[in-house]
Amino acid sequence: MKKDKSIALFEKAKKYFPGGVNSPVRAFRSVGGTPLFIRKGKGCKIEDEDGNQFVDFCCSWGPLILGHAPEPVVAAVRKTVEDGSSFGAPTALENELAELILSNNKFIEKLRFVSSGTEAVMTAIRLARGFTGRKKILKFEGCYHGHSDSLLVKAGSGLVTFGNTSSAGVPEAFVNETIVVGLNNREAVKEAFQQFKNEIACIIIEPVPANNGLLLQDKSFLQYLREICTEHKTLLLFDEVISGFRLGFTGAAGYYGIAPDIITYGKIIGGGLPVGAYGASSEIMSKISPDGDVYQAGTLSGNPVAMAAGIAQLTECLKPGFYESLQSKTSEFVKSLNEFAETRRLSFKVFSIGSIFWFAFTDMVTVQAADQIDPESMKYFRKLHAELLERGIYLGPSGYEVGFVSQAHSTEILNGCKRVIMECLEIAMQ
Ligand SMILES: *Cc1c(COP(=O)(O)O)cnc(C)c1O
Repeated sequence: MKKDKSIALFEKAKKYFPGGVNSPVRAFRSVGGTPLFIRKGKGCKIEDEDGNQFVDFCCSWGPLILGHAPEPVVAAVRKTVEDGSSFGAPTALENELAELILSNNKFIEKLRFVSSGTEAVMTAIRLARGFTGRKKILKFEGCYHGHSDSLLVKAGSGLVTFGNTSSAGVPEAFVNETIVVGLNNREAVKEAFQQFKNEIACIIIEPVPANNGLLLQDKSFLQYLREICTEHKTLLLFDEVISGFRLGFTGAAGYYGIAPDIITYGKIIGGGLPVGAYGASSEIMSKISPDGDVYQAGTLSGNPVAMAAGIAQLTECLKPGFYESLQSKTSEFVKSLNEFAETRRLSFKVFSIGSIFWFAFTDMVTVQAADQIDPESMKYFRKLHAELLERGIYLGPSGYEVGFVSQAHSTEILNGCKRVIMECLEIAMQ
């Protein structure tokens, strides 16, 4: 595979950006080698600056549920930007996207658009604190919620811990308000509520944890969180930045039939442009300024071009059979790979839900908590990743990241990829 141009661009980028990138995982550090500089994408394929083509399972880390440059989104963006890209004043497009979402989602009554998932979650936490008048939040080890201070926290040792910062520059004072417990662990949650009665503003969880492997939770655990939150007047916050509009139009809340108090969205909602959102009941949302005293604002919030892209993409998602088709393509793909691994007795398993999948190098039947992932197993992923790149398949460059199937991944393409992945698995696991 030719990489000259990517190598040269990366050398240059290193002069401009820390690590040569504008978001760390892109630097390929966990798989080694040079990041590929992507020139364009169409449908399920991308092409790098050296002209190599790949079937893309990263899909920009989730937003591209229709694949790259889908016609309706491109047309909407083009048409909108012709009339100006930002006004800092209300536009009808914001109403239109909000109506599309709210009239098809019984879990929230009002929402607010922001520009990223991080921003949505950061504000949702502030809202939970403002609404309850409490300071502490409870999060789970292995869930990612963006890079705001209170959430860059990892578990210490023990059942219920205040976290340790997972980033320099985060003051202890923030970390001391964040309780961290293990996923799928009721005892730990119960213990936290015993220790911090009436102090916990919210539990925040990725209902489908998909940023540290795919750690599928028991539905009963999510229900337990709902119950314990209700009992203690704590808000339940579902961070659906990945799962929203992915597991179905109403995300994990709809999939499991569990009603959280606040939901955050990102990724798919913006049709590939930078949009995030948080939503809740009208009562909770009335705490947000200018109605209420929880402040949040944004120069480019509700940006018309981004709104138009979101409207175009979500309109496609609402068409009959959209999610069923994605789901059945994905399960077929995953099933074959699992059968293959089983017959060859490889310590490999694909976990999946909806159109999200994760390649795990394990013999375990379920992996539901961060500490069940063996860091040693990542050496197989590294090998697999390299072999797949050589054969035209692009996975996100980390074994802790999940893959996505988009509408543009046809059954034919997936069948081809299946065979290549099987071949590469045998090489990687020799
Ligand atoms: C991606 C993600 C975020 C952060 O969103 P950004 O747009 O990258 O800031 C937050 N929470 C979850 C669950 C995510 O998957």
